[in-house]
Amino acid sequence: MFKKGIVLPIVWLFVFFGAHGFIIDQQKRHNDLPTLLLVSFDGFRWDYIDMYNLTNFNYLKNLGSHADYIRNSFSTVTFPNHWTIVTGLYEESHGILQNNMYDPLMNKTFNYKSPESQTIEWYGQNKQVEPIWVTNQKAGDGRRSAAEWIGANVVFQEQNIINIQYNKSKTYKQLIDEFINLFKMEKEPINFGAIYFDEPDHVGHYYGPYSIEMKTKLEELDEELGYMIEQLRKHDLFDNLNLIITSDHGMDTISNKTAIFLDNYIDTSLFKAYGSRACYNIFLNQQTDLDYVYKTLKTIPNIDIYLKADIPERFNYKKNSRIGDILLVTKIGHAVYVNKEPVNWTINNGDHGYDNNESSMHPLFIAHGPAFKKSFKTKVFNNVDIYPLMCSVLGIEPALNNGSIANVEKMLVANQQKLMLFFIIIFSTPIFTASATGILLCISGKSRKFIYKNSITIYKDPLLAVESKIGHFLNNTKQEKKQHYFNHSDWKRRSV
Ligand SMILES: [Zn+2]
Repeated sequence: MFKKGIVLPIVWLFVFFGAHGFIIDQQKRHNDLPTLLLVSFDGFRWDYIDMYNLTNFNYLKNLGSHADYIRNSFSTVTFPNHWTIVTGLYEESHGILQNNMYDPLMNKTFNYKSPESQTIEWYGQNKQVEPIWVTNQKAGDGRRSAAEWIGANVVFQEQNIINIQYNKSKTYKQLIDEFINLFKMEKEPINFGAIYFDEPDHVGHYYGPYSIEMKTKLEELDEELGYMIEQLRKHDLFDNLNLIITSDHGMDTISNKTAIFLDNYIDTSLFKAYGSRACYNIFLNQQTDLDYVYKTLKTIPNIDIYLKADIPERFNYKKNSRIGDILLVTKIGHAVYVNKEPVNWTINNGDHGYDNNESSMHPLFIAHGPAFKKSFKTKVFNNVDIYPLMCSVLGIEPALNNGSIANVEKMLVANQQKLMLFFIIIFSTPIFTASATGILLCISGKSRKFIYKNSITIYKDPLLAVESKIGHFLNNTKQEKKQHYFNHSDWKRRSV
């Protein structure tokens, strides 16, 4: 029979470990093969949602977690930023620096449209590049990835994922159905999927961000998102699957009035320029011309010209052999052509690729699902943070990356639970200590063996066992944090 004084302390012990166990169990349930669908709408500027009053985007934005916008990486171009989203690496770290680029070490040019450019030597220039679909599969436990995404047909670390080819003739609804089927497969379903939608980028380039055509296209995309929500609901996935909707860049207006032709100012046969109208990497044919070319280009209005060594640190776009001797960055709203060429200005009214500090270049970010808080607005973050965020949602350890989970973890339900546990420990520790002391006093004098559950250690002192459990938990939490935080300067040293 218990002595009277021992009842209350035992009740407190149950409350303490009960609450602890409840939260840990909750986390385990979330980590029991969590699912995530990453979706990108190419060229979806962050403020389109309000500008065009898009019902379904607004619905999801208000229901889940969102940021007003995210800061994409420089250059604000499609292939580089899509590769950044899935690797958590700045462009200088992963090596996809433009849709068109030159590698002087390989003496080869990359063309985003060319199948010959879809190789490991381009996408895996840095040996530590690891896309999220590989990180997911490597984590084991039957995790499977499927991707219809930039770089998805390049095999990394012998991880064969389900690679769904980009196919212009396939409708968005077909793609949505295809991925839902993959998540619902009875045998070996995927737990990670990545879908790339190619609009509203094309319409943005053709007609600009403020056109009637853009309004029509965005209403169409809003309807596609409505279909996705409806299908996820129908298949019992809407509340169980984690969904991230984002983009690579925004869009701004260009016109014949803002066009700049470099051959009006300089002999353009002195160099080769790789990039697009908003940003070029310039490689000199003869290094002896560097000073002349640099000084001449500097005289042209509405462009910024940098020698490679002087490229601003904030671009994170310097330490790579694929960056030219000179970097040309066009001022927002202007369009640079190397040589005079006929331009059909009725279908050339928008562009991107400019400075990533420009508001019109920023993409949207919306997240929904069991891992994300409801109706939560998070602060603006960088798109390199999406990779560690996805790893956290999937419960896997991230590869080396430039992002930081600290910038995004506030939107996670698990973060809320960690905080809860912290407060439970803080507030219950004095009560617990008093309770434990009470028990000790009650049973003092009797030496008993106390076997701690799940442990082979035999404790003679119950207090030691409890301390060991708390120490083990705190230690684990500390280690988990450590894995997520990578020292940026450490990464720089390792980058190519
Ligand atoms: Zn794009």
